[in-house]
Amino acid sequence: QAFLDRIATLNPTLNAYITVAAEQALAQAAQADDMLAAGTGGPLTGIPMAHKDIFCTRGVLTTCGSRMLHNFVSPYDATVVERLQSAGVVMLGKTNMDEFAMGSSNETSYYGAVRNPWDTQRVPGGSSGGSAAAVAADLCVMATGTDTGGSIRQPASFCGITGLKPTYGRVSRFGMIAFASSLDQAGPLSKSAEDAALMMNAMAGTDLRDSTSLDHPVEDFTALLQNSLSGLRIGLPKQHFTADLNPAVQQILQDAIKVLEGLGASVSEVDLPHNHLSVPAYYVVAPAEASANLSRFDGVRFGYRCENPLNLEDLYKRSRGEGFGDEVKRRIMVGTYALSAGYYDAYYKKAQKIRRLIKQDFDDAFRDVDVILGPTSPHTAFKLGEKNSDPVTMYLEDIYTIAVNLAGIPGMSLPAGMLNGLPIGMQLVGPAFSEARLLNVAHQFQ
Ligand code: GLN
Repeated sequence: QAFLDRIATLNPTLNAYITVAAEQALAQAAQADDMLAAGTGGPLTGIPMAHKDIFCTRGVLTTCGSRMLHNFVSPYDATVVERLQSAGVVMLGKTNMDEFAMGSSNETSYYGAVRNPWDTQRVPGGSSGGSAAAVAADLCVMATGTDTGGSIRQPASFCGITGLKPTYGRVSRFGMIAFASSLDQAGPLSKSAEDAALMMNAMAGTDLRDSTSLDHPVEDFTALLQNSLSGLRIGLPKQHFTADLNPAVQQILQDAIKVLEGLGASVSEVDLPHNHLSVPAYYVVAPAEASANLSRFDGVRFGYRCENPLNLEDLYKRSRGEGFGDEVKRRIMVGTYALSAGYYDAYYKKAQKIRRLIKQDFDDAFRDVDVILGPTSPHTAFKLGEKNSDPVTMYLEDIYTIAVNLAGIPGMSLPAGMLNGLPIGMQLVGPAFSEARLLNVAHQFQ
């Protein structure tokens, strides 16, 4: 009830929630009370949390931030939702997001921009901006997000919280509305690495309903939290620590590195020679996959339908024309173009080859170091509207995060310091299945 009261007070300003499921939350809380009284609860029993509105929730609206799904109530729960529910959480509601998770500022949402709790004239980052703002403003204890190209880590950085993108396939995508299926991955947003580890314990694991979920043993993600960092080898990518990086951000990272060295870590430079190609490769692969995934929204099976269609073609055209926003349409056009006969080899195939080289760079680097450390974002949260006029400016938000998705490896953002009253995150990246190690480093640092 305390969280619901806080949401009622602050959400009109922050716009972090699209839907608040008050009645259901109170019923779940009552059940959790009974379990705890009977001594049968676990560490997440009764913890009030929120889901990004990309996860299907049975009986509760799931919009994906789009007019296209303004009336969509799913008949089933996403696996992530189901697993967290089995762990006893209370779902307060569904958080705002960029439309179909396309964006880095949460300004493409049909439900309006989210405001950053640290400065309401600024964006919370995106696309999981509602989740990050809700955690930062104590409108929930923890929240789910998704990260196709930085959408957990960048909002975590802008809102001063912790966010983890797991190894591709570690968490089931079943019931998570698809954007770019080979990149999409769900993960936790929370106040600490310890909370993220507890969420991962509930969320991770193979799922027969998602053929890309990995049949890999799920360890206890809290198991390594207390380990010493003595002997940890940290790599600093020379492509991230350049003269282009804001000196104040650079300084905050250098201070953080000193703390880690004090805890026993050693630092060396690593080379990611294809890093500069990650934004162009991503903005071919992701729209290509999106254009295919979004073809299901046809105005027939679910979601928005235009008024009085003249015939089937008119129904498709107007339902999609009226249901999707500008950024989504831009991605569909770019993706359709990149996949079309005659252009496929020049764009899509080329991007896939670059993707392979990016993955190879990380494999090479992880022969010498255990984790890679760098900035999550080039700067702190920017002002609402500041980057809206040119899509490429917005795409450049992702320069530090996106290679991690292309390589399928885990990455996280944790608060590194403050700059002019705004939080700034640092990113930790590890080889596949190193989530527990990343959480260990973050926990020791925090
Ligand atoms: N900024 C990226 C994009 O717009 C982030 C997407 C994501 O991770 N969902 O595609």
